[in-house]
Amino acid sequence: MPAEEVFIALGSNLGDSITIVEQALQALDNIGRCRLLARSSLYRSEAIGDIPQDDYINAVARIETSLEPMALLLELQAIEHAYYRNRENAERWAPRTLDLDIVLFGNRQMNDSHLTIPHPEFSRRRFVLEPMFEIGGDRFIAGYGSLSYLIDKADALRMEKLERTDA
Ligand code: ATP
Ligand code: MG
Ligand code: MG
Repeated sequence: MPAEEVFIALGSNLGDSITIVEQALQALDNIGRCRLLARSSLYRSEAIGDIPQDDYINAVARIETSLEPMALLLELQAIEHAYYRNRENAERWAPRTLDLDIVLFGNRQMNDSHLTIPHPEFSRRRFVLEPMFEIGGDRFIAGYGSLSYLIDKADALRMEKLERTDA
């Protein structure tokens, strides 16, 4: 099966978030049939929603994989669990040690009870769009428009790019 290009959004706001996101980026490269092609800088961003909580550390990875979307999601959930993500707190947008979301999977579109691709919220989220732009340039996303167009319209939450320490 040919490999497809996938964008994955990473986020953490509990624990040592910078280390957790850095390690999760490495973990993506270690998934069988996955290869990390590019990773963004880390970004610090204000949490969405009404729950008072710490800022998030966010990043986006571009990978190549021959896994099917559901198989990839299971791998991502295994990585989330390795960081003891607390799922007992069922509230949406609650603090978490690690969140890994599939943003784009090739040009696929799907919507079932476990997986919606493209991610239903990505086009409004600056903390996803700007790191995507950083590593993928101003690409056009079918059904949505160009990244620069989406960034212009995205949320106005506070966000800063952190200096790269690995370069
Ligand atoms: P949001 O989706 O708004 O970013 P979240 O990431 O906090 O919220 P989770 O608790 O991580 O939500 O995931 C809830 C469920 O979302 C998962 O169990 C998964 O089945 C489903 N899901 C649907 N589409 C996707 C996707 N594109 N990437 C990751 N999970 C998805
Ligand atoms: Mg999420
Ligand atoms: Mg998630």
